[in-house]
Amino acid sequence: MNVTPLENWILERTQLASKSQDALRAYQLEKIIQTLTYAKEKSRFYHERLKAVDLGAITSLKDFERIAFTTPEEIKHNSLDFVCVPSSDIKRIVTLNTSGTTGDEKRIFFTHEDLEVSIDFFQHGMNCLVDKSDTVMVLLPGPAYGSIGDLLQKALAKSGISCIVHGVLSDVEKTVQCIEENKITCIVGIPMQVLYLSRVKPDLFYSNITKVLLSTDYVPDALVEALSFKGTCKVFNHYGMTEMGYGGGVECACLDGYHLRENDLYFEIIDPISGERVQDGEYGEVVFTTLNRQAMPLIRYKTGDRARFLKKPCGCGTFLRRMEKVLGRMENSVCIQGHEIHLRALDEILLRFDSILDYTLRVEENDTLHVKLMLANKERSVALKEEMIRCIREHFTFEFTLRIETFEDDRSPKVIHSMIKRKLHDNRQGATV
Ligand SMILES: [Zn+2]
Repeated sequence: MNVTPLENWILERTQLASKSQDALRAYQLEKIIQTLTYAKEKSRFYHERLKAVDLGAITSLKDFERIAFTTPEEIKHNSLDFVCVPSSDIKRIVTLNTSGTTGDEKRIFFTHEDLEVSIDFFQHGMNCLVDKSDTVMVLLPGPAYGSIGDLLQKALAKSGISCIVHGVLSDVEKTVQCIEENKITCIVGIPMQVLYLSRVKPDLFYSNITKVLLSTDYVPDALVEALSFKGTCKVFNHYGMTEMGYGGGVECACLDGYHLRENDLYFEIIDPISGERVQDGEYGEVVFTTLNRQAMPLIRYKTGDRARFLKKPCGCGTFLRRMEKVLGRMENSVCIQGHEIHLRALDEILLRFDSILDYTLRVEENDTLHVKLMLANKERSVALKEEMIRCIREHFTFEFTLRIETFEDDRSPKVIHSMIKRKLHDNRQGATV
């Protein structure tokens, strides 16, 4: 197995004295101190936040753990307070509305250089899966300047790899035509959308697509298994979010956890309750600090994602660490009669049924779990429902009311046309999620 191409790239960009974790941490500490100094001087938010902090006293990563976290709510409260450059230097603003509720928006700012740094990561990250013999289709927003599609296309062009920015999936027939006409071999897209495409057009999909890169949302194991179709298609996971500068880490050919963009980002896993860093191998919340960001550096930003660092070295032989595939959002769970139900557990059950194209989950009054399934056709829906109820009951040993509703796919873009992360909705009175 080849060593992840990210290794050489990180070595080049960091000029590390040796290929070791210690050398990389020393580089990151130096960058963290630069970032703290820069943000304290240039941004209103960090000027206030770090007012009482003697930055000269931070001489280790352990010292850095004393710095307060930055939360998504703080960005929502006033995004502009985070900006470190004059407005004329801002070349891209991304407005994120994770819940779909008005007023619940985060704005993330980038300079031209920030975008170039992301392109650099994409170029080397994509080398994990494609080469000049491939043609990539991006089923993500684009091609506007600074969009993820635009950045990916520019990144691939640097490696001489053809790329079509198609935009999010909204018209299956048009997408199929594009795959055939351009002889697409690799798709970059949103997990549920790529799965949808593979399930409505399996022959076309598996006779053309040999590699897939999933991004923007967490990816259940059942989805990877279904999509890989017994190894016909290699399914790579990418971890990233706009706040990271889109990219955060990507799997190597071992497909066993991400190698991270450690020259640009410093990652920690913390206990979300105590705020303390957990030991490698233990689960917690992912927190990151940007190391090279101009417009909007973020310090110890709480992602709300649950993951852990893997202790064993990767099969590819790199010295870089590995983060296990993210398990989903911390908030994506509901409590029913004292028992926790996590979106992930339901995903793993439901996605094993290959007639399911999409679904939504919500909890209603009287602790009723409502599952709404989109099926390719409703012919076998009664038997399917029975089997599904059996599987859910087998997994959750406590009592709750389960309501399963099915509807047939009408290929309506509104169902599948969404960049909003999947969510387990809690509609009960007094629910906070
Ligand atoms: Zn590896």
